[in-house]
Amino acid sequence: MAKNDSPEKKALMKELSGLGNLIRGSLIHATRKCGKKTCRCWHGGPEHQYNYLSISTTHARNKQVYVSVANLKKVENGVAAYKRAWEILEELSALNLAELKDNSDKQ
Ligand SMILES: [Zn+2]
Repeated sequence: MAKNDSPEKKALMKELSGLGNLIRGSLIHATRKCGKKTCRCWHGGPEHQYNYLSISTTHARNKQVYVSVANLKKVENGVAAYKRAWEILEELSALNLAELKDNSDKQ
């Protein structure tokens, strides 16, 4: 952190450093039939809910990671933290760009 950083930048960098357990991806809530043909889901009953994380990759297909109910809250928080981290990076970049413009005006 540089000495002459604005309070706005300092606050953003502090918030960024406090974001833990970032997770990149989109949390998807879906339903499906299970493997048991005798189960209610095969006989008109409601299908089973499950959650997964869809992660874009450099390959054509997105990667999908199953998320258990026990991990759901953790993953939700991680995805939200990742999104906020991106917003902060964008804001910091905009502030740094604005500083460049200020400097060039003075020359
Ligand atoms: Zn079932």
